[in-house]
Amino acid sequence: MGDSRKPAIFELSRTEEYESLTLIIGGGIAGLTCAEKLSKEKIPSIVIEKEETLGGQLKRVSSFYHTEVKPWELINEKLSSVKNTSLVKIFKETTVKNITGLAGNFFAEIEGPKGKENIRAGSIVFASGNDSIKREKSNRAITLMQLEELMEQLKKESTKKTIAIVIEEDDFLIGPGVALKHAHILKEAGHDVYYFYEQIKVNEEYLEALYRECKEKGVVFVRNAKENIELQESDGKMNIKYKDSFNSSDLNDVSLECDMLVTNESFFLGEETKTLAKKMKVNRCQASGFLQEDNYHLLPVGTNKLGVYAIGACRKPGFLWNVISEAEAAAENIFRTLSTYREWVKERPVIIGPSACVLCLTCLRTCPRHAVYIDPKGGQCKIHRLACEGCGICVSECPNFAIEYPEGLNLRERIGPEGRGCL
Ligand code: SF4
Ligand code: SF4
Repeated sequence: MGDSRKPAIFELSRTEEYESLTLIIGGGIAGLTCAEKLSKEKIPSIVIEKEETLGGQLKRVSSFYHTEVKPWELINEKLSSVKNTSLVKIFKETTVKNITGLAGNFFAEIEGPKGKENIRAGSIVFASGNDSIKREKSNRAITLMQLEELMEQLKKESTKKTIAIVIEEDDFLIGPGVALKHAHILKEAGHDVYYFYEQIKVNEEYLEALYRECKEKGVVFVRNAKENIELQESDGKMNIKYKDSFNSSDLNDVSLECDMLVTNESFFLGEETKTLAKKMKVNRCQASGFLQEDNYHLLPVGTNKLGVYAIGACRKPGFLWNVISEAEAAAENIFRTLSTYREWVKERPVIIGPSACVLCLTCLRTCPRHAVYIDPKGGQCKIHRLACEGCGICVSECPNFAIEYPEGLNLRERIGPEGRGCL
């Protein structure tokens, strides 16, 4: 049994009003877009940014490939939009230390230049980005992000350079996508570009067209990078030896002297976000470790906890257009929740009958939304009406049939004392 199933006593507000303020963790493009969209719906938000400037990873990006808009223009547009409204407050150089509570009534402890502060928020949006590390390929290799910072200089460079981009297998499309963008720009600027890859996945909007354009412009693509290439460094020069399967059926060895070697990074969820998610019992994807739920069709931007959303690179590293639509979708969800919660909270409460409850805590352990809590006043198990989505799991799991749907939907009456799991 993991930590996420430990019994917990929440200090819950007695009110069942859904606080309208949203706390957004991260002031990158995802967080700013979400705050902007919420403000258009007249919903207040607080954006928490740990750095002294806003914009996140996008500050380091030199260009997009599917639009003429420049990254800094997009950041400035979002910034001026959120600064022009009193509905968005931004706390820079601030971190979130802890968040307790449930949907509608979260309590966040934040710490910034002015010290500690407590905030009550109805919804929480994780927009905290990701961390990355360089893959161990060669000391002289640079990462795609480092190349991003050199692009303006390389575009102006009059001496032709030979640039090799080696893309190792990646769980996310972002690495190959960014590499294709760079390959395209560098080739247009007159450099020789070699793209070594395991597999090129182009099943994202714009990627296939970009791949075709790269080929037409003369970027050299070499497949099976892992098996086919060997890196050698001598006399301060970098050589890549590879087998060119297109030139001969016998696989000729080709030696390529390159001026610049670029590799993709490995992405992972930042430690602060991991710790906070663990404290809040927000599940992470088992395979990738990101906040994207395993069933992302069911929860495109939501999490296992009602009222908690994950958008942008902390959900899963992705492209700008995904990030923007996730941020807008989270804001739409919050708007819909605030507009309709009074109705759905009446329709879906399940009730624990105190006299039948033997406090075995089965419901507390099995509720996927962590909506069951122990009332610190009476020591009884209770279900938080705003955090419960009425799935019925606790109703079917309670060994004493103590949990009921309202209006006579008693499980014992419906399936008899011996029946189990028939909901
Ligand atoms: S599972 Fe049933 S008996 Fe056990 S704590 Fe929950 S309501 Fe009470
Ligand atoms: S019905 Fe029960 S298991 Fe389902 S969300 Fe509500 S409290 Fe949790």
